[in-house]
Amino acid sequence: MKKKLGLLYGGKSAEHKVSMQTAMAVIKALDTDKYDIHPIYISESGEWVRGPQLMGPVENVKELAFHSHEQIGSNALSTTLFQANDEATLDVIFPLLHGPNGEDGTVQGLLELLNLPYVGNGVLASSAGMDKVIMKNIFEVAGLNQVKYNSFIRSDWQSDKDAAYDRVEKELGFPCFVKPANLGSSVGISKCTTREELETAFIEAFQFDRKIIVEEGLTAREIEVGVLGNDHPEVSVAGEIVPKKDFYDYKAKYEDGDTALIIPAEITEMEYAAIKEDAIKAFKALDCSGLVRADFFLTKEGKVYINEVNTMPGFTPFSMFPLLWKHTGLEYDALINKLVDLAVERHTEKQ
Ligand code: ADP
Ligand code: MG
Ligand code: MG
Repeated sequence: MKKKLGLLYGGKSAEHKVSMQTAMAVIKALDTDKYDIHPIYISESGEWVRGPQLMGPVENVKELAFHSHEQIGSNALSTTLFQANDEATLDVIFPLLHGPNGEDGTVQGLLELLNLPYVGNGVLASSAGMDKVIMKNIFEVAGLNQVKYNSFIRSDWQSDKDAAYDRVEKELGFPCFVKPANLGSSVGISKCTTREELETAFIEAFQFDRKIIVEEGLTAREIEVGVLGNDHPEVSVAGEIVPKKDFYDYKAKYEDGDTALIIPAEITEMEYAAIKEDAIKAFKALDCSGLVRADFFLTKEGKVYINEVNTMPGFTPFSMFPLLWKHTGLEYDALINKLVDLAVERHTEKQ
């Protein structure tokens, strides 16, 4: 029997476009002998839209989303949304959503309420992983090495801006990185080397979130690994990101296309062992399931710092996470099958 797989994509977040690109690739890679694919598109304004039953690869997901669709409305708390065309309930949901309202536990909560198996992390890991401050607080307790950081709430900053900047200068110094707490894809992130830049960076980051994080800036290589599994996760080979620019910003990630991904990364066995150990520690600390991409900084001296985990990493066939698994021996379509199996396994374990 074919599995009825609901593919949730788009989403009400700054990473909407990224999700569209990914959904297109996943639809193409999914084995149509194994899966009946039921695309469910979430528009940028939060409208849920059901596309027609897919009979073959889709060239343009945007077209799929806007033609012959059935508008569900934003009242998503409805089981009808997750029914297949024959009125049967979908077997498994693949939430291919990045950023707030998708990668952050909200959609995962909805799927929990409906008791549907879904790919990837649960509510807790998704929400804790989305909030860089909470994530780092948990990493701290788990004993993971990371950069120094401060967090700020918009209303506090508004009442005394100089106090906020003074604290950063005193406790972190320059260069530092200013980031919205709840986002990804480098949206709203700035590197600052002066007080003036810091002021501009705060204004920028607070446009995206009421809470921001400021971190000590490192000069280091960026090494990433994929983690896959539930209770006994496995770690992929390591990859290195070499941005052509000053840092790995949004343009470098999605527009320029000239950021080099080096897989496997040229690191020592000891460095890899430390990264692997920390990746599993981080996965367990956040109580992750399914997958994460764990991102690290590696200094010249060989010191490993965890930067973050991404609970729904970029997932096109050319993204780091699938490429890491490809080099570890798991091809894109096999990886997707594995994720669906892990979703079902987790759902069964929970009962
Ligand atoms: P996102 O979740 O948006 O990917 P990151 O925290 O990974 O946010 O930051 C994006 C990029 O900014 C990183 O890949 C790296 O290039 C750079 N960066 C972020 N924080 C630091 C830091 N503390 N020191 C040096 N570079 C950093
Ligand atoms: Mg991230
Ligand atoms: Mg990142």
